[in-house]
Order: sequence, then C-alpha cells, then structure tokens
Amino acid sequence: MNLQTAQQRQNERRRTIPEVKKQRAMYYKAWYETRGRGRSQKDKESYRLWALRNPKAVKARQIVFQALKSGRLEKPEKCVNCGQRRKLLAHHESYDFPYMVTWVCFSCHPRRRNN
Ligand SMILES: [Zn+2]
Repeated sequence: MNLQTAQQRQNERRRTIPEVKKQRAMYYKAWYETRGRGRSQKDKESYRLWALRNPKAVKARQIVFQALKSGRLEKPEKCVNCGQRRKLLAHHESYDFPYMVTWVCFSCHPRRRNN
C-alpha cells in the first residue's frame, strides 16, 4: 500500500539531489545554532503534563524501550504503512498490550490515530 502523495514523492526525490541535500544541511545547521539541540522548556512542560494524564502510555513506552534494548522487540527498517525508511514510532492500538505495536513513521502516525 502506498499512501504517498505526488508532493511527498517529489520531496523524497529532491532529498537525494546533492545540491538540495547541502542546502538542507546548511538550513538545519543554522537552525540548531540559533535554537539549540535541546527541547524547549515549553515542550518539556507539556510532555510532563501529558505524562501525568497518560500514565498507561508512559508505561507502554517504557516497556517498548526496554524490549528494544533487550531484543524482545525488533524495529523494522521501513514504515509498515507507507514503506519508507524514516524514523519510526511504535504505535499502540491499546496500551493494555504494550508489546503489540505497529511501526509507523511520523507522517503515517496521525493518520492511523484518526482511523
Ligand atoms: Zn509511513
């Protein structure tokens, strides 16, 4: 299944062009230099509040993290939804089953949530 839009496919192709790659690298270098690598205090605070409201989700995340470390769970290379090599998230259908995760990329995750 391929849910990519034409725009996404074009962006994907553009990323492989050396000149575009260089421009991106320069852009992000400048971005991190001015804003820093760490999360902002606002982000940290909103995560803390989210974690207080969602203790089950926090527990499930910890279990996945430990399982990845110990080799009990394995992270695939590609998103199971769009098949792209991206940074993957472990999506839980239910936090009651922390080992049952679907590995999706950032752009597929919200779509799955809304389904
Ligand atoms: Zn995806």
